[in-house]
Amino acid sequence: MVRAFVLMSGGLDSALAAKLLLEQEVKVIGVVFTSYFFSPVERSRSLAKELQIPLITVDISEEHLKIVLSPPHGYGKNMNPCIDCHALMLKKAKALMPEYNIDFIATGEVLGERTMSQNLNSLHIVEKEAGLNGMVLRPLSAGLLSPTFAERMEMVDRTKLLSISGKSRKEQLRLASEYGISGYSTPAGGCLLTDPGYSRRLRDLVKHDEACGESVKLLKFGRHFRVNNSKIIIGRNEDENLWMEKFSEDGYTILRVEAYEGPITLVTNPTEQIISNYAVPLTIRYSDAPKDREITVLCGKSGKMTKIKGKSMTYETLGLKPI
Ligand code: SF4
Repeated sequence: MVRAFVLMSGGLDSALAAKLLLEQEVKVIGVVFTSYFFSPVERSRSLAKELQIPLITVDISEEHLKIVLSPPHGYGKNMNPCIDCHALMLKKAKALMPEYNIDFIATGEVLGERTMSQNLNSLHIVEKEAGLNGMVLRPLSAGLLSPTFAERMEMVDRTKLLSISGKSRKEQLRLASEYGISGYSTPAGGCLLTDPGYSRRLRDLVKHDEACGESVKLLKFGRHFRVNNSKIIIGRNEDENLWMEKFSEDGYTILRVEAYEGPITLVTNPTEQIISNYAVPLTIRYSDAPKDREITVLCGKSGKMTKIKGKSMTYETLGLKPI
C-alpha cells in the first residue's frame, strides 16, 4: 500500500488533500506542527478523527523561532516568514519519512491562494530548500503543476486530482459539503505572526530584548508599554493575570495594588524610576482603586514584595503609547 504524509494545518485545504488521497486508497498519516506562534493541534486532531487517519504532532518551536528572527526569504505582510516556515515543515516531515515508511509528502497548498507562499516560485523554493524537488504533491492544484514523483510512479492517479487555483474558496467549500468535512478552521487562522498587533510587539521585543520562548509567549497577554529599555505589561483580565503571575518566578518584577482588585503588572529591566513613575501609576489606573488619592502597590520578585505608594495616571498623561 502506498503511504503518504499529509501536512495538516487544521484548515480545510489540508483536510481535502488528505481526503483526495484516501479516495485513491493511499494510506494517509497526518503531520501537524506546533510552535510558539501557532498550534493547530486540536483542530487537526478532530479533522484526523473525521477522516479516520492517524496524526503525528511535531514541535518545531525552537527552530521556528530562529527563522522568525532571521528568515532567509523574508517576511510576508507582518512577521510571518511563510516561505521559510513551509520549508522547515517539509524538512521535518522528510526526516520522518523512513521511520513511518512513507512514499511521498502531500500538502493542502493551492496555487495562487496566498500571495507570498503559494505562487509557483515559492512552491519550488520550499521544495528545493527541503531537499524535496519534484517530490511534494499538492492534490488540490496538481493538474496545474508538473507531475510529481508520486504521479510519475503511478502511486496516485493524476487525472483524479484537482486543478484549483486562486483565492476563491468556492470549490473547496463545495467539496467540504460533498465529503461531509466540517471541523476545520479559517485559512491562516491561528498563526500569531499574521496578526499586525502581535507582529508590532514582536518587532519591539526583537529591537530591545532577547526573544526567547518565554518572552514571545508573553506578547500574547496584556497591554504592553515600552519605556526606554524596560517594558511594562499589564494584565487585562483574570485569566491573563493568573498566567502572568507565574512570570515572577522567571525574574520579572511584578506589581499589584494592595487592597483592591486590579491587574498583575510585569516589568522587564526595571529601574526605581520606571517602577515609581510609570509602572505604579499604570497599575493603579487599571485597578478598581480610587483614582483621586494615594494607593499602596506591592512590588517585587518571587513573593518578596515591598510597598510603594503612588497615584493613578493614564498612559497618555505619561506620554506612552501601547505597543
Ligand atoms: S502563516 Fe504562520 S504558520 Fe502559516 S506558513 Fe506563515 S508563518 Fe507558517
